[in-house]
Amino acid sequence: GPALFSPRANSRGWDLTDTAELQALETARIPYAEAPFDAAPRLAGRVVGGPQLAVLNPATGALVGHVTTAGLPDVDTALRLAEPWAAAAPERAEVLNRAADRMEADAGRIFAVLAREAGKTLPDAVAELREAVDFLRYYASQTAQPHPARGVFACISPWNFPLAIFCGQIGAALAAGNAVLAKPAEQTPLIATLAVDHLLAAGVPATALQLLPGDGTVGAALTRDPRVNGVAFTGSTETAQAIRRSMADHLDPTAPLIAETGGLNAMLVDSTALPEQAVRDVIASSFQSAGQRCSALRCLYVQEDVAENVTEMLFGAMEDLALGDPWALATDIGPVIDAEAQAGIRAYVDAARAEGRVLKELAAPAQGTFIAPTVLSVNGIQDMPREIFGPVLHIATFKAPDIDKVIQAINATGYGLTFGLHSRIDDRVQSIVEGLTVGNTYVNRNQIGAVVGSQPFGGEGLSGTGPKAGGPHYLARFTLPPVPAADP
Ligand code: GLU
Repeated sequence: GPALFSPRANSRGWDLTDTAELQALETARIPYAEAPFDAAPRLAGRVVGGPQLAVLNPATGALVGHVTTAGLPDVDTALRLAEPWAAAAPERAEVLNRAADRMEADAGRIFAVLAREAGKTLPDAVAELREAVDFLRYYASQTAQPHPARGVFACISPWNFPLAIFCGQIGAALAAGNAVLAKPAEQTPLIATLAVDHLLAAGVPATALQLLPGDGTVGAALTRDPRVNGVAFTGSTETAQAIRRSMADHLDPTAPLIAETGGLNAMLVDSTALPEQAVRDVIASSFQSAGQRCSALRCLYVQEDVAENVTEMLFGAMEDLALGDPWALATDIGPVIDAEAQAGIRAYVDAARAEGRVLKELAAPAQGTFIAPTVLSVNGIQDMPREIFGPVLHIATFKAPDIDKVIQAINATGYGLTFGLHSRIDDRVQSIVEGLTVGNTYVNRNQIGAVVGSQPFGGEGLSGTGPKAGGPHYLARFTLPPVPAADP
């Protein structure tokens, strides 16, 4: 079909190893190093005024900007004014592509806001903007799908990918021709407002894309309003379950919930793995983005014979990680998103410390909401109570004859998002991959950073509803199902 030969290509991104390119980016973001940003509801073209809350930089505590949050009357207004995007498919594609181009051209400002509001290092911010524009262009390439839009979609997005997942949900819903009510995470309204303004300036009608910054009460109001025809959500499994209950009580029973939720992700390193490579991939998988990815590695299983060597190398490599203000180019790991997240992770690590299970812990800056990368010992994934959304890795060991038991324990968590495997035994790789119920398996590499179009991303069981984001089936959930052929 035409999709195979679509001219779409992923963003080339920015090459941070190229000094000239890096210099140009630095120059582009400097004007936004201290500039204030504003977020406020966008209701069919009207910017809502009202009381403002401060948005603070999690690394420094400095003021980044202000947000006017949406009240329940604003939610009602947005629902009243929402109109599905009636433009023909090629026009919708053109507008979404134009929005992607605008965002790429605005990289300096976007990287600045991602660093200051969301604690993103420059490499993370580059990856995030790339993914955002990739989502927009990918779904733009599919606007010609044959089925009608559902109507009004609520897109409830997370703070950990406040641009990429925000644009992914919105881009899919709009590509299919729906009206979108976007509810960004409470922690990241500024980047959401910037993205919406690019989409509107690119030509998305103001009645087809409205923005409702606010806390959980805004999301809850959307998911209990029968004028909503579908919900896209990325966040915790518990919130997804609450949304499902609310939809069951209030919405048309055919309204879809497209949810990407948490994970308890494992990696298995056997004695045939290359230790240097495994260690590099463990570091990236568990500590990059301060571990604030639902794909991140939480439980590393190392084969007993090589465990001492691998952990020693890992602890040595961790010493090279630089924590600090994500604005600084030398920083590898920024803060966690806010004080509440920091307190929760600290309490968890403190409890493990009381049990003598802290194997390795770096030092964290005293200011800002940092959590130092930490490694805890654990008997196995069955002893991990829940997803800890930060740079905390658990290590267990296994003996070769027990591999099946390890796989069973991973499956028994009920989650099934990512899995990493370092092994050079082909039969073993094959049988492990077949025995696992996870969405994304990565062999002899890290397990984060799925690429739009080539690595569709999403989980099984408690980790999500499917279909996978950035894959060929995602858009279908945003449209009505095919109408069965009538009986002759
Ligand atoms: N797609 C991201 C990755 O592959 C994770 C998304 C998330 O954390 O929600 O790393």
